[in-house]
Amino acid sequence: MSGTDITDTEGTLDVVNPATGELITTVTAASEQDVALAAERAHKVFASGVWAGRSPRERAAVLLRLAGLMERDAEFLARLDCEDAGKPITECRTGDVPGAIESMRWFAEAADKVFGRVAPTGHESLGLVSREPVGVAAAILPWNYPLAMAAWKVGPALAAGNSLLLKPAEATPRSTLHLAALAAEAGLPDGVLTVLPGHGTVTGTALARNPLVRALSFTGSTATGRRILAAAAETNFKRVSLEMGGKSPQVLMADALEYGDELIDNMIEAAFLTMGQNCTAGSRVLVHHSIAEEVLDRFTAAAKNLTVGDPADARTQVGPLISRAAFDRVAAAVDAARSAGAHLHTGGLPHGLPSRGAYYPPTVISRAPAGSDVLTKELFGPVVTVQTFTSEDEAVRLANATEYGLAASVWTRGLDAALRLARGIEAGVVSVNAYSEGDLTTPFGGWKQSGFGGAEKSTDAFAQWTREKTVWIRTR
Ligand code: NAD
Repeated sequence: MSGTDITDTEGTLDVVNPATGELITTVTAASEQDVALAAERAHKVFASGVWAGRSPRERAAVLLRLAGLMERDAEFLARLDCEDAGKPITECRTGDVPGAIESMRWFAEAADKVFGRVAPTGHESLGLVSREPVGVAAAILPWNYPLAMAAWKVGPALAAGNSLLLKPAEATPRSTLHLAALAAEAGLPDGVLTVLPGHGTVTGTALARNPLVRALSFTGSTATGRRILAAAAETNFKRVSLEMGGKSPQVLMADALEYGDELIDNMIEAAFLTMGQNCTAGSRVLVHHSIAEEVLDRFTAAAKNLTVGDPADARTQVGPLISRAAFDRVAAAVDAARSAGAHLHTGGLPHGLPSRGAYYPPTVISRAPAGSDVLTKELFGPVVTVQTFTSEDEAVRLANATEYGLAASVWTRGLDAALRLARGIEAGVVSVNAYSEGDLTTPFGGWKQSGFGGAEKSTDAFAQWTREKTVWIRTR
């Protein structure tokens, strides 16, 4: 049912608190053989019909009970993600955990609302197109939203009737393991959800190459997504959906300051939520030259005002980065930009921050040289660049000047300008006058090298976890 019943002890995972560097616990890592055994078991469970054979309404009832149990244990789950990922506890309490519970409820309720189709055939035949579960499915998760990303995948995968193998990220297995325990308590049959903590190169690769796994949904970096797609192509052509990195722009037109503090607050949230370790982080501010100075002053002042510190403290807005390696990567890119002539308005050096933990300050950069890493690479840290433009066309060109296309936000009172920008920007989600990924009713998936093969959220998410079957009946 969970990672705790993995018997093979080859390999372990140390779960370390990023705020203190202290070891929280050691978890057994699933080996290649563990994955093979778990897949065989999941396959048998699927074939038995113990879950897939139940009516969608019955499956919904179990998943709704699971959502209720997540609510009961919400504070515990929030603490697990706070400790394992270094995320501010207030973010976990008000964002990640309630969001995960809402997702579980939403997908449970959707279980019996995803319809097949009847094809427009002639009178001599009936073409029924039904949606069926894939059988054994797998999900591979990142560490930045451990429970929330699990819920986006577990909800639709199980609502559709699959057996799911779930691999949390190395750093953050505990909330997912607890989710599996809650699923058992809710009455999910054994073997329907198997959590397999483990190393990407071992457990992740084994899932991507396993011939019994028919669909694999991945959220993580673009580099790993590329490897998973290649592994699927080399093995059984499992259906692969990839939600990957981003370098999202926040576009401020000349009238954007009419939104006042609301604009600045949204810009700060877009830039520094989860310390900028967020796939949709608005890490590139593109601002009309006429308001650039005032925007820079107000945004920099707000960034300086953020409370950096212990993520377990409810007042903390910015905690540590996930690891020392992440710190080094972010620091190197900022240092390189500075050496190449970029201007730092705030941040850059971790002066005055806690020395235990990989704390990096909110950093605002302008005049970064074209093509520099801070402008083009996903840094996954609290670093924002500011660039100016003089025309709408230039704004669109700058917005599209990376290999990514996950999200964007646009600020203007002009409806025409907003729609032109929304059309011109190559991204899966463009929010207007807000930093937002939409809600559960809207699909979420990246363009360009941010996404491949399917969307999360909304009833579109079921396409990842189901396949269509045509039944052609001659009626005469
Ligand atoms: P990562 O790619 O390093 O790891 C993600 C997962 O893949 C982990 O569970 C890891 O163990 C596993 N993995 C690593 N190598 C593997 C391999 N060869 N085969 C199979 N699995 C393997 O990413 P991360 O550092 O955990 O997360 C950060 C990244 O995730 C960022 O790029 C971020 O933008 C992205 N992300 C995207 C979204 C989205 O919805 N688009 C959401 C959250 C995070």
